[in-house]
Amino acid sequence: MIDMARSAIFFLLFLVTNASLALLYPFTLSRFLLVASIYGIGTVVMLYLLFHPRNQWLVANRSRVDGAGCVALTFDDGPDPVDTPKLLDMLRDKGVKATFFVVGKRADQYPEIVRRTWAEGHLVANHTWSHHALFCFLMPGHLRAEIERGTESISRSCGFRSRFFRSPVGLRHPLLGPYLKEAGLEYVSWSVRTRDTLTANSSVLAQRILNKVASGDIILLHDHLPAGTDVMLEALPRVIDGLRERGFQFVLAGSREHVGGRPLEPAPCESAR
Ligand SMILES: [Zn+2]
Repeated sequence: MIDMARSAIFFLLFLVTNASLALLYPFTLSRFLLVASIYGIGTVVMLYLLFHPRNQWLVANRSRVDGAGCVALTFDDGPDPVDTPKLLDMLRDKGVKATFFVVGKRADQYPEIVRRTWAEGHLVANHTWSHHALFCFLMPGHLRAEIERGTESISRSCGFRSRFFRSPVGLRHPLLGPYLKEAGLEYVSWSVRTRDTLTANSSVLAQRILNKVASGDIILLHDHLPAGTDVMLEALPRVIDGLRERGFQFVLAGSREHVGGRPLEPAPCESAR
């Protein structure tokens, strides 16, 4: 109910901001200044609500994990047919469990990688169906389909409904809160943005992460990028070793416990559809 009220307030803010343009006629300097103030403030507030990854107002979200000395590695945008298996090999060698926010349509392309991820003790979570670049402007039906099809895709490969969700680039949508509640999903954000998408030097990336991380952090990384994730794959062993030396422990960003009485372990391989 509160979620819906907040969605309504957001739409009202949108309307008022845009309707303020009508005050420009008949044009005077004082009217112009008034409209510029209303429009400017309204736009800044809306952008903050839609774009800030840890803002709680439109969607309740968690950006930290419990437990002293615990940190969580999270990998978005996979599975990738080349890089995700490399990453899984490394995590297995290091004995580290992580959380994977998979893109539904990619998971449908490579269901065996998603199954392997889950079978090796990691957490698999919903990162929407298509990773739509204009996520915050989707029509309601489209938004609901992005969430639901992401959940269905994980269900096809792993045999359970995901309990955790993260939107593309952390973008919000005025209706995301109520829709996630309806779908039984918890929004998991992050507290450390590594900028692995923009960094070309693995030493710089590793050092940046080591400098930033503190107890309870959820760390944002990517296991699929247009230019590949070699830099991240090279930096990660140093990050893991460095954090362990400082006494940190790696945990999942959420519980692997299932919902709805489905088996905890992945269902036997079904043919990919
Ligand atoms: Zn993403």
